[in-house]
Amino acid sequence: MGAQQSFDVAVVGAGPGGYVAAIRAAQLGLRVAVVEADRPGGVCLNWGCIPTKALLSGAELVDSLRAHGKAFGIDADAVTLDYGRAVEHSRQVADRLGQGVSSLLRKNRIRLVRGRARLAGANTLDVSGPDEQTVEADHVVLATGSSEWVPPGVAVDGERVVTSREALALSSVPGRLLVVGAGAVGVEFAYLYAMYGARVTVLEMADQMLPGMDVEVARTLESEFRRKGIDVVLGARFEELESSGGQVRVGYIRHGRREEISIDRVLVAMGRRPLTEGLGLEAAGVRLDDSGFAVVDAAHRTSLPSVLAIGDLAGGPLLAHKASEEGIAAVELLAGVERPPFDAARVPACIYAQPQVAAIGLTETQARERRGDGVRIGRFPFSASGKAVAADHPAGFVKLVVDAEFGEILGAHVVGAGATELIAELALGMQLEATTAELARTVHAHPTLSEAIWEAALAAEGRSLNS
Ligand code: FAD
Repeated sequence: MGAQQSFDVAVVGAGPGGYVAAIRAAQLGLRVAVVEADRPGGVCLNWGCIPTKALLSGAELVDSLRAHGKAFGIDADAVTLDYGRAVEHSRQVADRLGQGVSSLLRKNRIRLVRGRARLAGANTLDVSGPDEQTVEADHVVLATGSSEWVPPGVAVDGERVVTSREALALSSVPGRLLVVGAGAVGVEFAYLYAMYGARVTVLEMADQMLPGMDVEVARTLESEFRRKGIDVVLGARFEELESSGGQVRVGYIRHGRREEISIDRVLVAMGRRPLTEGLGLEAAGVRLDDSGFAVVDAAHRTSLPSVLAIGDLAGGPLLAHKASEEGIAAVELLAGVERPPFDAARVPACIYAQPQVAAIGLTETQARERRGDGVRIGRFPFSASGKAVAADHPAGFVKLVVDAEFGEILGAHVVGAGATELIAELALGMQLEATTAELARTVHAHPTLSEAIWEAALAAEGRSLNS
């Protein structure tokens, strides 16, 4: 083992949880090290949020030309597509932003230790790899993230059978693609490949796409996907797959009957699992739950008080901004900053296919389960929005789930163009405990998509203007 170094905080993992926690800790005057086994930026920058959004920007461009070009006198029939070039672009973007993280760490005088960390004790990390050494710290923040979950018996070969990780490096588009799982990752890849010319089928076990999200939102996404030629099979439980002769045969159970599909490539998007292998957590006394996520308290401490866990490792929602916000909260609480605890109920979730989907807080179903009749709904369709109609994007709506007595926003659900940007206003509204009366009094510029939020608030107040 190499030299021994001592710090106030040692962070394991330089994803959006770890590197943000490290910067905030350094801003608070703490001496900080970050141990990273791979490339700074984590899954988010390298194999998740950023490269997928780079690719989806291309998909959206093609979709816009094809689906909406005619309305503006643009003939998109002669457009040629080079998916390989789009993948190159996405890799360049990931590289550039990853280098940005390294320089941010330097700028904040954070020691980057390259290698794989193992928790050797309550305050000790053994690092193996290029910068082999022992790191001692008063506190350790674990931010090792998650990786793809693949069902037992499924062999990922990186060509015919892939997860999002392999898919992001492949520059070819299959003729026919089956996406197993209609969660955020499955939906985004289904849309991406369909726009670049694949015939795509999505298989989902639940009876709606985006399980857990608002049912009306999911139904709108489903019908828009079908209009774009994407086949959606719901209530279909994946059983097994077999790859031979350049084809993959996938068996699934639907309505109690076994069905099969033969396809060129399968993308398994059935969820993620926490990354704890080789970390030595259980030996060190860090308790994990039944699914392997670290169990933490409101201050993000694990069962070993000097060890904290944030981000995907500490459980859902498995989102980059949740990881970052937890990282900030964890080190601020460590440093004695007076602040409210991190509130997972106010984390927006976004899906970047077209139509886009964005949601925060309770769904209507959850709100009615908890409050019965004490819930009001305010809804506004984009088909009645001047800006959406002008842009030829009339699909979708804004739906507000509201406390019937005080008008507080309990949840917000948006499906349609621009949804992932619109949700920020509703996140701020919920943070400030804004009521629909206050939203309705807020002047929204005309014509903008954000007027749909204003109109949904007016609807919740029982005084719709434009619908
Ligand atoms: P990670 O980003 O997973 O980072 C963990 C880091 O720890 C990695 O760099 C890893 O190398 C390192 N590490 C692990 N073990 C060790 C060890 N023992 N020693 C040293 N280093 C170690 N979220 C969104 O919010 N928006 C999106 O649009 C979005 N799109 C996604 C698309 C895809 C295809 C995928 C897969 C995910 C997407 N996510 C998205 C989820 C998001 O990427 C994760 O929620 C986020 O990266 C979690 O951050 P983290 O810091 O907890 O962990």
